Amino acid sequence: MANFNTVFVTGGAGYIGSHCIVELLEAGYSVIAIDNFANSVNGEHGEAPSLKRVEQITGKPVIFYQCDLLDKSKLEEIFSKHKIDCVIHFASMKAVGESMQVPLLYYKNNIVGTINLLEVMKQNNCYQLVFSSSCTVYGNPEYLPITEEHPTGDVTNVYGRTKYFIEEMLKDISAAEKNWNIISLRYFNPVGAHPSGLIGEDPTKAFTNLMPYMAQVAIGNKESLTIFGGDYDTVDGTGVRDYIHVMDLASGHVAALDKLNKEHLRLKVYNLGLGTGLSVKELVHEFEEVTGVHIPYALGPRRVGDVDSLVCDGSLAVTELQWQPKYDVKMMCRDFWRWQTMNPNGYRSETATAAKLNGTTLAVNGKQLNGH
Ligand code: UDP
Repeated sequence: MANFNTVFVTGGAGYIGSHCIVELLEAGYSVIAIDNFANSVNGEHGEAPSLKRVEQITGKPVIFYQCDLLDKSKLEEIFSKHKIDCVIHFASMKAVGESMQVPLLYYKNNIVGTINLLEVMKQNNCYQLVFSSSCTVYGNPEYLPITEEHPTGDVTNVYGRTKYFIEEMLKDISAAEKNWNIISLRYFNPVGAHPSGLIGEDPTKAFTNLMPYMAQVAIGNKESLTIFGGDYDTVDGTGVRDYIHVMDLASGHVAALDKLNKEHLRLKVYNLGLGTGLSVKELVHEFEEVTGVHIPYALGPRRVGDVDSLVCDGSLAVTELQWQPKYDVKMMCRDFWRWQTMNPNGYRSETATAAKLNGTTLAVNGKQLNGH
């Protein structure tokens, strides 16, 4: 049995990366993280504010380097400084709309970046990898709920195609070289935040995802939500997605690493989702109920590339990774809202209440949220 304890995390300062590092540190792993700050906020001296908060939550250190995966020599330098046992690869450009406008940039960053990483891993005899993939590789689903056997590749956008191409590359290298031991995790819709309210989603670009946008409306930074399409073939005509709390997603990565530690799989793929579909209107309703804040919305046209419903069969991860998701939709809304209200300007406001409020309860718009 392999026995690894030092994990190299690419995109570690980002939304999913930072939450995953909390879980890794709490599970006893040491973490070396890199980020190029393309989609996460950087501090004045090149440090990562999100990871400072991670250290605050866990009481454990994170070694951090500002590094772009396209800078292969820097990557080589970091690998030569540390004995890295395994890698979790989150770093990726991820805005669907943007990917259609600047496809070459997406192909270069996501695919060349991954090739550089795989080459440096190989040079250093490190073959254990958890890859951050997405349900977008399934395209417009042929059946629901989506199992891992569902065909992939008929993808509707460039971002999704980069994930698909990387998965194909991982298939090829793991077939050609038996040393590779890889798990690709296909995420459904990650939302929520760490229950402390200290870390959460803080996009550096426009707010395009539903929950961050809704929270911006709730906090008064945006006037109203536009629901993209009211004529889908769903329960109420709005798009249905499988939302998963980011802490459940994070624990899924620790479960995947534990699996790689015990078994030589070459390559396995798992869905990470709860298997529960929720429409846009249903999520808005849940969010209003949990926060006590009304969300004005208007129905608009469909967003290009969107599909009716994406809901997974998540049972394989539950049985084979022994992964137990713990958070329901109310907790997803509660934790996102806690993060949003404690950090109205995200990590940009170090003076925000987040730094001071580390308690278990928090009053939001006169409503007391239960601590975790
Ligand atoms: N959505 C919406 N208004 C928004 C953002 C998203 O109606 O401002 C809808 C979108 O059409 C989809 C769902 O919310 O049905 C989830 O979208 P999101 O961008 O969060 O994630 P995706 O499923 O596209 O990865």
